[in-house]
Amino acid sequence: MSILSPMKILLIYPYFLNTRLHNPADVRAVPLGVYYVAGMLKQHNYDVEILNWHNINTTSHTIREALTDRRPDVIGFSILNANRWGGIDIARIAKQADPRVTVVFGGIGATFLWQHFLTHFPEIDYVVIGEGEYPFLNLVRSLDAGQPQAIESIQGLAFRKDGQVLRTPDADPIHQLDDLPDPAQYFDFQHLALTRGCGGNCNFCGSPRFWGRRVRFHSADYFVDQLERLFNKGIRFFYFSDDTFTVNKKRVIAICRKIIEKKLDVTWNAISRVDHVNEEILYWMRKAGCIQISYGVESGSEKIRKFLLKNISIEGIQSAFAITQKYGIMARAYFIYGNPGENRQTIQETIDLINAIKPLSTIFYILDIFPGTALYEDFKQRLNASDDIWLNRIEDIMYFETDPDITREMILGFGQKLRSSFFENLPGFVEAIELIDNVDLYPQHARFLSRLGMTFDFGDYAAIDAIPNKDRLVERLYQKSLTYFPDAEAYLGLGIRYQKRDAQQDAIDILSKGLSHFPNDPRLNICMGVGLMNQAKYDQALDRFLKFQDEKDALQFAARCYEAMGDPENAAALLEKYKEMKNHDRAG
Ligand code: SF4
Repeated sequence: MSILSPMKILLIYPYFLNTRLHNPADVRAVPLGVYYVAGMLKQHNYDVEILNWHNINTTSHTIREALTDRRPDVIGFSILNANRWGGIDIARIAKQADPRVTVVFGGIGATFLWQHFLTHFPEIDYVVIGEGEYPFLNLVRSLDAGQPQAIESIQGLAFRKDGQVLRTPDADPIHQLDDLPDPAQYFDFQHLALTRGCGGNCNFCGSPRFWGRRVRFHSADYFVDQLERLFNKGIRFFYFSDDTFTVNKKRVIAICRKIIEKKLDVTWNAISRVDHVNEEILYWMRKAGCIQISYGVESGSEKIRKFLLKNISIEGIQSAFAITQKYGIMARAYFIYGNPGENRQTIQETIDLINAIKPLSTIFYILDIFPGTALYEDFKQRLNASDDIWLNRIEDIMYFETDPDITREMILGFGQKLRSSFFENLPGFVEAIELIDNVDLYPQHARFLSRLGMTFDFGDYAAIDAIPNKDRLVERLYQKSLTYFPDAEAYLGLGIRYQKRDAQQDAIDILSKGLSHFPNDPRLNICMGVGLMNQAKYDQALDRFLKFQDEKDALQFAARCYEAMGDPENAAALLEKYKEMKNHDRAG
């Protein structure tokens, strides 16, 4: 039997300085690397806890209490550039609460600023440089064994000694990624990665310097085993967060086949490059549950793509978007604006490209300058700046702030123009979707269209007024979905729409059809129950609701039926149960 070390280790994902308008999942989620470090420590019998403090109440009182309760010996912080002040603030509180605690910074934001952190912030004891699993484990072991002198021989670390900041030689990249213990044995998470490294060389991106330009891989077995472990814990949706998931097509197809063979009914998003997909891989990805691929397009201007060292062609971009959407996968385009030389014409070129590739989702970023990138080295030279810039309590530096030719007003105007043009044209992009006529993919096509309908009806696009003609679009998507295959969401979406416009009989008809295919679908049954209530058929509605007492809505509607039927006692009992469930959800 293994003996747990008495050492207590906390791994903290600290909060960001600015509240994010959109809080995308990739900012909310603890970076995957933290789970790998934690998994490694667990495998060596250390007591590890991960704290996702990306949005913790920033009062020092709450943080102090949480740290005092846990009494950690070592705290590792997962640092991105934008949350480094969160890390520093929490480290300060931790040291005040217990001066003996060892504070370690790691991650991409720490790796490129190790000297800065150790020079200016006495509350930071060590910085792990690059891949964290082995340096962090070796550091903890040395501390645990009471051998601080051994720390100097650990590769991939920086620390202070006799008033000097020192850095040991870099650790070798981990070549056999499968040797790493699978963190899914110990933790639940949704972000997975098949690879480490990126062959690209974009000048705004720190990934190649952090992970290396040679791509390293997990085996298909390791990857699918990890997915299966998480699936068995009830997780059904995943983000494959590799820089380019599809670098090795054979391996990705092997993964997709395994997911299908093992009947892992999951959906997932992936990230790729437009020059790394073809129809064969997209077919398998769609069959295995892929619903979205994000591509870095960056700009419609050839000149700007060249400046950013984004080595992709217009033809490549157009082809990737066309074939991705043809297989019923939402193609998302990332764009960067506020680049050197950005002007009305380059923005128009980007708009023209968007209109040509018709993406169903876009993300527009302003060009940021991060340590670890070629752009940052250029910035330091141009402005004769140093890492001391980060002593300011800022999250990042935007390129336009360093270029007198571009003003903030221009950039904000460009952003607005890009977004409003996209939203205005989005319905046309949806109308233009042409799915491949492959019977084998009909169920997936039906699901793709109904999911898209739901996105406009209840999801991200529902609240965006700049998108015209949403109602018509949504209904057409649901209807088109049903031309491919019976789909529960499409029936439900239409049922709700018909009810809202008081076409009660149409609603009953479409829901009846849906229920003939999916008799046990709780949402269809509840929606049908509501339709029956609208027709004052309370007893029939009640029968349906009572079959689904695990569903909050069913309880609430059943209570209303009892009330309408003159049975306040049963109504009150169900409402009580409903409230309990709601409170339980909130607490969860
Ligand atoms: S932006 Fe993407 S393709 Fe370019 S270097 Fe970074 S990870 Fe690689």
